Amino acid sequence: MIEIDGAEGEGGGQVLRSSLSLSMLTGQTIALHSIRGKRPKPGLMRQHLACVQAAQRISSAQVQGAELGSRELRFTPGPVAAGHYRFEIATAGSCLLVLQTVWPALMRAQGASELILTGGTHNPLAPPYPFIEQAFAPLLARLGAPASLTLRRAGFFPAGGGEVRVRIEPAAELTPFDLMAPGDQILAHAQCVAPALPRSVADRCLTALGSQLAWPKAALQPISSRQNEGPGLALLATLQHAQVTEVFCALGEKGLSAEALAQQVTDELRAYQKTGAALGPHLADQWLLPLAMAVQQSGRAASFTASEWTLHASTNAALIERFLPVRIGSVLQPSGLHLCRVAPA
Ligand code: AMP
Repeated sequence: MIEIDGAEGEGGGQVLRSSLSLSMLTGQTIALHSIRGKRPKPGLMRQHLACVQAAQRISSAQVQGAELGSRELRFTPGPVAAGHYRFEIATAGSCLLVLQTVWPALMRAQGASELILTGGTHNPLAPPYPFIEQAFAPLLARLGAPASLTLRRAGFFPAGGGEVRVRIEPAAELTPFDLMAPGDQILAHAQCVAPALPRSVADRCLTALGSQLAWPKAALQPISSRQNEGPGLALLATLQHAQVTEVFCALGEKGLSAEALAQQVTDELRAYQKTGAALGPHLADQWLLPLAMAVQQSGRAASFTASEWTLHASTNAALIERFLPVRIGSVLQPSGLHLCRVAPA
């Protein structure tokens, strides 16, 4: 059994989600305490409970403490079963975080899985759908774990109601690879999805972003939405490089001007470009687990560069080392980027 202090390091939902993923991958029982101990409202919120319940379903786990507000959880996984699953979050909680919880275990299962996930698809402090589809999933596919994703409906806070469908293929063999630089730029474009808001709002955001980044009009695309989505607004900039695609996103809020929203996206994108690293801060913390799985399976080390080494990344690295026989090190280079290496222990 592995005991985990949920307040350690970053002390948020990722400690819980990664622990669930790693527990299912290794068959180890986990006992978590102080869940989300560093958050203003600690314990299991509805979206975290949805992650626990999804993990329980796919692994027939025995679980204690799976209740709203619970700060303790004991989770003993059984065998992970591929299959057809529907995971619903009644609130606007991120359904992509539920997906990321079960993804590592399902890609190692015997057979393909078809998932329907409902809830939020463009959430603050969580990966938005386009990031998962265009940045995260292609890297997993390159490791040897392909999946196809469809956004059926966008879901924003507070209404939620988004829907994502995913088919996860079984990955017989995972092959680690280095990601030292993004490679040549192939495409740069900005998009604005603004369901249930006047089209002029999306246009203003895109114009502001286009002028801040000096991108041509052809690179700016408002996205049409369906009647039953929203209201909500996501402004996204995508950089597609030969080795990696990065997606930067800011969500609209009442009182936040188009210029201020565009500035958030611009600042994140520029911070990433400045270092010349392959991965931005979010992709870096999320890449650690699948890469560690591939390193463990193949017995071969792999490295990547990251524009930042966040508390999310260092916390995830320390957690992964407790479950898998790997060592994860990160060193700040004189150029300002972080060189991370994942090696067999
Ligand atoms: P936590 O705060 O512990 O619930 O973890 C949040 C997760 O969402 C981390 O893996 C973050 O890297 C990820 N995340 C937060 N914001 C973004 C974003 N804008 N794009 C992609 N991933 C994000």
